[in-house]
Amino acid sequence: MNYLQQSFSVKFEYRVFFTDMLFDVSNPVLNDFLVSSQVEGEMRKIMFVVDANVALHHPGLLDQVKLYFLEYQAVTVIDDVLIIPGGEIAKNEPSYYTRIVDAVNDYGIDRHSYIAAIGGGSILDLVGFAAAVSHRGIKHIRIPTTVLSQNDSGVGVKNSVNYKNKKNFLGSFAPPVAVFNDYHFLTTLNDRDWRSGISEAIKVALIKDRVFFEWIEQHATALVKRDKLAMQYLIRRCAEMHMNHISSGDPFESGSSRPLDFGHWSAHKLEQLTNFEVTHGEAVAMGIALDSLYSCLSGRLAEADYERIVILLQTLGFAIFHPMMQVEAANSPIVTGLQEFQEHLGGQLTIMLLKDLGVGEEVHEIDKNLLIQAANKLRNR
Ligand code: NAD
Repeated sequence: MNYLQQSFSVKFEYRVFFTDMLFDVSNPVLNDFLVSSQVEGEMRKIMFVVDANVALHHPGLLDQVKLYFLEYQAVTVIDDVLIIPGGEIAKNEPSYYTRIVDAVNDYGIDRHSYIAAIGGGSILDLVGFAAAVSHRGIKHIRIPTTVLSQNDSGVGVKNSVNYKNKKNFLGSFAPPVAVFNDYHFLTTLNDRDWRSGISEAIKVALIKDRVFFEWIEQHATALVKRDKLAMQYLIRRCAEMHMNHISSGDPFESGSSRPLDFGHWSAHKLEQLTNFEVTHGEAVAMGIALDSLYSCLSGRLAEADYERIVILLQTLGFAIFHPMMQVEAANSPIVTGLQEFQEHLGGQLTIMLLKDLGVGEEVHEIDKNLLIQAANKLRNR
């Protein structure tokens, strides 16, 4: 045999901090992190990219950031803060990606410096991707400002933008160096974006933890009323389960299975079919309803459990069906989501279904007739 063998592993480690008022000068959490990562004789830079809606709803934020770094001088802050429209447009419109990469060039942001993103999951995905490919990887810090990004997208390892009308077609597995979940940001979310991220918590509870599912049932009204303690618990537990899953399994998804994507095959397609009028979290809620009903009709899940899932989603104010989810035939638009889901990951089609509340089961085939039945039943509900 004539070959050289190469093998190494790279360890990734990052913390997710839970805090309130991150940029208040009396809050040293961010500075402590930066100091702990300092290297003697080096002055690192930090460049901020901010979701335009966050800047709008927190008008003092940019000044606060500057004051913070006047007080704490662990890094040099770049004066020019990039403000980018929040929402899916950030991932759809290539000029935003270019703006960040150009700023990396203009301000000499090197691999010892940081790019910090403050915003919802869309901004974090975009900035993480731009950071991952600039100079082959600049350290990125995530400061998520929505429920979904604090409990799910911001604590994981994936970054992406959309391409050719396909979700997350261009992306990277590049973990952040740190995540700062600041509850204060959530206070300015509208009810829709407040609710949206709760679906990811229901998803992870359904596939892994019945006790957490029942906790969400018991606290549904508190969550609707925007109870702080209930939301803080939901975010922390969901983030914890998400992170445990990543480190215990296949963090960079080299296999065919993506258990955390329960309910997502149709959700991603629905977002695209509705031109992103349906948010990611809303689409996930409908995807959960569809795949739970399919689990029931295929004899895996008890009907009473399916009922509990739908009632919980509705109590929280989620719609469980959208006309674009109509399945009339095997080639209905939403069904192409199955193929796109498989293509994105590669390998065998692997869809997570439910056997019980808190117990998932992966399958490799979806019966189109049962899917038609499930979609019809949901529509008529
Ligand atoms: P979003 O980022 O689209 O934000 C929703 C809206 O809220 C936007 O209009 C945004 O500007 C606004 N906003 C953000 N913070 C605010 C605040 N504090 N106050 C007022 N308004 C605020 O939505 P999202 O639900 O956070 O993220 C969805 C995105 O995350 C999707 O693109 C989805 O594909 C992605 N995602 C990524 C992963 C991953 O692993 N990388 C996982 C799940 C979802």
